[in-house]
Amino acid sequence: MTDAREVRTACPYCGVGCGVQARVAADGTTSVRGDPGHPANFGKLCSKGSALGETLGLDGRVLHPEVAGRRASWEDALDLVAQRFSETIAQHGPDSVAFYVSGQLLTEDYYVANKLMKGFIGSANIDTNSRLCMASSVAGHKRAFGEDIVPGVYEDFEQADLVVLVGSNTAWCHPILYQRLLAARAERGTRIVVIDPRRTATAMECDLHLQLKPGTDVLLFNGLLAHLANTGAADQAYVTAHTLGFEAALSLAAADAPSVKRVAEGCDLAPAEVAAFYDRFAATERTVTVYSQGVNQSAHGTDKVNAIINCHLATGRIGRPGMGPFSVTGQPNAMGGREVGGLANQLAAHMGFDDPSAPDRVGRFWATPAIARKPGLKAVDMFEATGDGRIKALWIMGTNPAVSMPDAGKVRAALKSCDFVVVSDVTRTDTSHFANVLLPAAAWGEKDGTVTNSERRISRQKSFLPMPGEVRPDWWIVAETARRMGFAAAFDYANPAAIFREHAALSAFENDGGRLFDIGGLADLTDAEYEALAPLHWPLPSDASAGVQRLLGDGRFPTADGRARFVPVRQEGAALPVDAAFPLVLNTGRLRDQWHTMTRTGRVPRLMANAPEPAIELNAADAVALGIADGDLVRIESRYGGARAKAVTSPGQRKGEAFLPMHWSGRFAANASAGSLSAPVTDPFSGQPELKHVPVRISREPVA
Ligand code: SF4
Repeated sequence: MTDAREVRTACPYCGVGCGVQARVAADGTTSVRGDPGHPANFGKLCSKGSALGETLGLDGRVLHPEVAGRRASWEDALDLVAQRFSETIAQHGPDSVAFYVSGQLLTEDYYVANKLMKGFIGSANIDTNSRLCMASSVAGHKRAFGEDIVPGVYEDFEQADLVVLVGSNTAWCHPILYQRLLAARAERGTRIVVIDPRRTATAMECDLHLQLKPGTDVLLFNGLLAHLANTGAADQAYVTAHTLGFEAALSLAAADAPSVKRVAEGCDLAPAEVAAFYDRFAATERTVTVYSQGVNQSAHGTDKVNAIINCHLATGRIGRPGMGPFSVTGQPNAMGGREVGGLANQLAAHMGFDDPSAPDRVGRFWATPAIARKPGLKAVDMFEATGDGRIKALWIMGTNPAVSMPDAGKVRAALKSCDFVVVSDVTRTDTSHFANVLLPAAAWGEKDGTVTNSERRISRQKSFLPMPGEVRPDWWIVAETARRMGFAAAFDYANPAAIFREHAALSAFENDGGRLFDIGGLADLTDAEYEALAPLHWPLPSDASAGVQRLLGDGRFPTADGRARFVPVRQEGAALPVDAAFPLVLNTGRLRDQWHTMTRTGRVPRLMANAPEPAIELNAADAVALGIADGDLVRIESRYGGARAKAVTSPGQRKGEAFLPMHWSGRFAANASAGSLSAPVTDPFSGQPELKHVPVRISREPVA
């Protein structure tokens, strides 16, 4: 027997990025608790995080490589992957292959996959399931600030006098951050406004809930911008000194939302509620506006983000203690993926194809002549291209698009028809069923690297368990494939620390100070220093001794002229309006105790106990009109597919609207996938799909 060990690591679920202490007892059993020293959670964990120790069994694990469903050696499996990708590229060009990766990957895994695709294959066809999570925030930040920057930190939640939560069920989806907010409220009386079409657990605790008509956020914030200007609450000196485009944005906002009455009518709210929100925002300098999937997962998500940021620019409330727009990410490493170019429209180190000098700079650093020079296919387009045969070889890493993508039925058909599908994952999933080659990837607790949370804080995720069977880390799998494709010298990594050092050095390479993402101060870490790396914020340039907390507070923005941009936006109609055939609006989202498609949390009985089966929430009046009673099995149909779930009436649901959790797939309940119902309709700037406003019809299933 060996002695008990305790390892400090990070939670693999949401973007709060809590620190975890994992204890492996002498008999090999594992338990977890919150890390009191981690600045995201100070020792606390939510229901999901505290059950992590119960997800570590080998049930359902992929333990050996498989080719065509049969066990194979790593040599044979990787030789085949490299051969098929190389042949496809030689025959059809680099854009005939693609990687679809995940916000669950560690930064080092992401870096190596991005380097292979964009640097050496020469295509930018690598996109991530984070496209479904925060791409609209990325696009909105770039339009307003010049770079994808989250200016604030979690402490701002505690230093604000007003926190506005837009499209964010923070109590369930970012529970520890929510607990920090409630603790601050108890101490300093922070006011909380929730803007959400549903009366969520978060809305039940707030001071003011604006239960607006879905998709009318731009109208609400345009009205706020006009109100700030009309009442003298705008900071004209800040606007003049640090921004461009205020008059144009205000003019469109005022035309869109000429009065509180018009806003209230358009948003289906009481004028007094709207006025109360506007007055509170105008009067409270220390205001943080938090937004999440209710804003991002929309065909107009980027405009919603900019409508919010416009109000913060107008008041100069950015990057100072207790104030700022704040996008919280859904996944543990959505932010890390942004750092290394995990999105098809990014390159590496926060550089994008919109900077003409960036490809050459990255190409020089990687010493490759094959660098991609144009953006690749975003997630929805990537599966569309797989279905119509443009993508002939697809590698899916650590994600389950067969149920999580919109129009999931079509995605499954695309995977079935694709010439060559590789899946590397921890467990068997709905997607691994389609794999020609299935590769066993290391799970949380077995792999080593870094993740970055919503406040730009980089934390170590560490291994404390041996890798079972023939499991390998994702970075190793990609690097071994790259070696077989003829790129051995560029992928000769001894360990994740070596990858991290290269990533940090690239962020500082030929950076004259114009780019904010710079962690050059970490480029010379020894392996031991990397092992002991304490959580820290980026940026951390070579001449800095510590990471920078807040950004943009000095009014200087990473644009050519140093000024932020107001973006004129107008309220658009729903991309998918309801009609007589599909008269109800379906909203989708998370439950408190589940994560994504339940490949891990679905294995924990106490997490399943609160919601053991898929249930669709309906307004009681709609249920009566449809002849549906609580507990009835109902069929939900959209123009894209169907699903079944139990009906539950909820006073929190607006009339004409329904809510279905995103978690269930064919593996846990027959045909209850929200993805099967959703449309492949995307935001024109971010490519993020509309997952919050899908027209459906609902009917009671006949009793057999
Ligand atoms: Fe994990 Fe998020 Fe819960 Fe923290 S709040 S323990 S990061 S799921």
